[in-house]
This record gives sequence, C-alpha cells and structure tokens, in this order.
Amino acid sequence: MILGIDLGGTKSAALLLHEDGTVGRRVAAPTPADADAEGLFAFLVDLAQQVRGSEALIGVGVSAGAPADAAHGLVFAAPNLPGWGSTGFPLAARLSEALALPVKIENDADATALAEWRFGAGKGTQNMAFLTVGTGIGSGLIMDGRLHRGRRGAGGEIGHIAVVPNGRPCSCGLHGCLEAYASGPSVTKIAQENGWQGEASGRAVVEAARVGDAACLAALNQAAELLGQALATLAMLLDLERVVLGTLAVHAADLLLPKIRTTLHDHAWPRLTEGLNVVPAALGDRAQDLAALCAWGTS
Ligand SMILES: [Zn+2]
Repeated sequence: MILGIDLGGTKSAALLLHEDGTVGRRVAAPTPADADAEGLFAFLVDLAQQVRGSEALIGVGVSAGAPADAAHGLVFAAPNLPGWGSTGFPLAARLSEALALPVKIENDADATALAEWRFGAGKGTQNMAFLTVGTGIGSGLIMDGRLHRGRRGAGGEIGHIAVVPNGRPCSCGLHGCLEAYASGPSVTKIAQENGWQGEASGRAVVEAARVGDAACLAALNQAAELLGQALATLAMLLDLERVVLGTLAVHAADLLLPKIRTTLHDHAWPRLTEGLNVVPAALGDRAQDLAALCAWGTS
C-alpha cells in the first residue's frame, strides 16, 4: 500500500491506497490556505499520521495543487496556496524525514492526467492530453507512453496560451489567455457581462444555458470555440490520439463538446485530427485519490 496525499487549495486528504486503485482509510480536512510553509507542512504531517496504521507502506505520493518540481521534490506558491513561497519548499525531503518513507510529488494536473490515463478515459492510449477546465485550466501531457515533464516540470500551461491577441486580462498577468475565457469563473463573469443575473456559479450558468438562456449560451459557446482552437494547436504540435477534458467539460459535456470538436477539426489538418477523440474525464470523484496513487507510481 501507499499513503496518498491530495493537497488542495481549499481541502486536503490523506489516504491509504492499494496499487490497483482501491482506497482504504481516508481523512480529509480544510487546508489552512493562509498558513506559511511550515504551517502547511505540519498540517500535512498531521493528516498523514491520522490515516497511518499498522499496515506496511512502500511510500508516499503527493498530488499537489501547486506548481511542483517532481525531479527535486519541490512545491512552489500557488495563487490559492501562497505559503510555499517562490523559491520552492522541499516538501518531498521534509515529508520523507517526518514519515520515514520515500516521497514523490507531482503537480495535480500532471497526476490527474496520469490517473485518467491509467484508470480512466485515457486508458490504452500512448499520446494523450488532459485538460482540467475548472477554477483554472491546467493540463498534463502523456507523450509516447509517459508523462511529459519539460525542462523544469513547469510546462503544460495550456490555460495561459493566448487565444485572443490583447484580449481579456487574466489572473496570471497576461492578456487573452484561454483561462480568461473558458475557466468556470471566466464563463460566469462573461455570462454576467452578457446580461445573466442569476446565481454567479459555473453550475448555474450551465443549467441556464440548458434551458436556453442566451447570455449563458453565448458565454459557453465562446469558451467551447476557444477551447477547440487551443486543442487544434495542441493537435498540430503533438499528434495526439485522445484529449480528455475534466470538470466543466464533464458537467457541461452536452453544451461544450460538439462545438469544441467542430472547432478543433476546422483549425487543424485532417491528418492530425482523424481518429483524435475529445472525451470527458471518466474518474469523477475518484480522480484526486487516484492522482495521489499515480504521483507515487510513475514519477
Ligand atoms: Zn493567464
């Protein structure tokens, strides 16, 4: 068994996992998001100790909702977890010392990409892109049967490529990023600018679009079109066999996927889109737990 840690911006969990993905004990608690690095570290050690029993463990996998350098076991500050700092906190080494077990860390988008690839909608492929379309847009790439890491493990920021020159300001400081149009909060904001006066949540916007609200439909259509354009870029660059889309693309698959697929096909060569399927993520609530397992299993 391994001990998995899912470190999130609002909630974290520690759990025991078997190699096949079955989950044993699990504890979850709100993440003290305003804590400093030592405070966050102490919180994670405490969660891990709560779940640990007498079972023999081979190691600890951490799926971190923050930028991570898997090769060096570092985590960095994220907008909703500023405590880790900008120079990189040696979370793997510190946890390893505290728990007397080897520890591996993976950024959560990469870890979830691995989980969808091993257990979910990406099963059986060798070249797959995973995009989570939630509060932000993160991605993980499986290239030739392994996770693509890049020079410092910092790549895969598909949410922050420019899809509209000099477009809407993005939380990252750039303009025209995909995330500024297609993340849950962006879609909600654009729907409001279009005249939507209902509840300010992605879910409410999706429900309103389903019953024909023009403001919400327009916001979702624009998101789908720009997602499709971004996927066309990915397809042309990477020659993918599958794209797996999470979160908003699962809740609103009926509204988003047809437009995403047609835009993708309109903006990439048939040679690179033939047989390329765009599918919703399949793991649902199990994604985070399995991501922790994959953070251990494949880094
Ligand atoms: Zn951005």
